[in-house]
Amino acid sequence: MKEIEVKDKQQYLRKNHPFGRKLGLEERKKCIHCDLVFLAGDYKVFKDRNGDEYICCPNAPECEGTVIDWVDVEG
Ligand SMILES: [Zn+2]
Repeated sequence: MKEIEVKDKQQYLRKNHPFGRKLGLEERKKCIHCDLVFLAGDYKVFKDRNGDEYICCPNAPECEGTVIDWVDVEG
């Protein structure tokens, strides 16, 4: 997997969120893989050999969590 740079993170998220959910860059999320609490806008994008792109945990590639593994944080 190779990390790719995203210029407009909000637009990318809108276009590529797997459930088409509107996720704000300022929303706090928690990754269920590594327990990291972060702002959604800190996500990374990785591309695999097939050219598929994944919205990943800020701890990627050490963490395998992707956008579907993020849960809401209270408060
Ligand atoms: Zn993670």
